[in-house]
Amino acid sequence: MEDIWQLTVPSKIRHFMWRLAHNSTAFCVNLQRKGLKISPLCPVCRIHEEDGGHLLFKCKQVKEVWRLCGLEAERLLLMDQGTAMTMVEKLMAFPVEKQALITTLMWNWWCERNNRREGGKGRLSEELAWIIQHQTREFCTLQQNQKNARSLPRQHWTPPPEEWIKINIDGSFRPDERNGGWGAVFRDHMGDVLVCASGFLPNILNALHSEMLAAETALHLASDLGMGRVYSETDALLLKDAIDDKGVDFSDLGVLADRLKDFIRCNFTECKTVYCPRVCNQVVHTLATKGSLMAGMAPCVTDGPDPCVSFFVASDLASHTV
Ligand SMILES: [Zn+2]
Repeated sequence: MEDIWQLTVPSKIRHFMWRLAHNSTAFCVNLQRKGLKISPLCPVCRIHEEDGGHLLFKCKQVKEVWRLCGLEAERLLLMDQGTAMTMVEKLMAFPVEKQALITTLMWNWWCERNNRREGGKGRLSEELAWIIQHQTREFCTLQQNQKNARSLPRQHWTPPPEEWIKINIDGSFRPDERNGGWGAVFRDHMGDVLVCASGFLPNILNALHSEMLAAETALHLASDLGMGRVYSETDALLLKDAIDDKGVDFSDLGVLADRLKDFIRCNFTECKTVYCPRVCNQVVHTLATKGSLMAGMAPCVTDGPDPCVSFFVASDLASHTV
């Protein structure tokens, strides 16, 4: 059971799994058994009594969430275990990423259940499944980054000089749907996040197309916000070459490249485009992915960090102050 402390998830989730294995999670039935005068009904469906087996594996909506996360076989296997302890033991025998996905699912569902119990508005299964899968990837990438950071030469995000703003920019491209998303994060010389932004990009030709539109959108926003000296940082070398005008032939994207260069010339005191490796661009990579799922929605612009990237922002800051 000590394995729980090695899980690739934040410690709040490890603690949750520990309590679950030791039957000390506050399921309604457990509380009632302890003499508390509360309804034993599941706060989500309000049909069945809520014990761990019902809430985590059998409640109608949680079954949907497991299925949307591609975990139906695992759900059936874990549900069949006689006790919470054997269930957790079985779970710890899965590959590391599956362990992370399942424990993140259980944790999110527990939070969802608590929120419903407090009278909060329930979230859709699709939304929960997306958050769960997304967080899991984030946890696994973070741990991988921490491992890499120990073995590789310094490869990390660095803040811009004083008076400058660094904008990390990324575009995502979904070839099957022919669309994508953009993401941008604006940080100052202290590494503080001023603005996070993301949005959907329809009718995308290829990855470079989405990178260019991402850069254009982000730089328009920078100009609207009155930023005069900016570093725009991208992990797309071709985009940097396009802006630096290295004589690359962009054929159908040539017009777009020219428009972008003109805009930069006319709107900034100074604007430098720099390349960074992918590991330094995780924050916006995440935002661009989020943007690609925002079809039909207005762009999302937040002052300060967007909650979905707070892990990566913190890890950028931590790595550059080491
Ligand atoms: Zn239920």
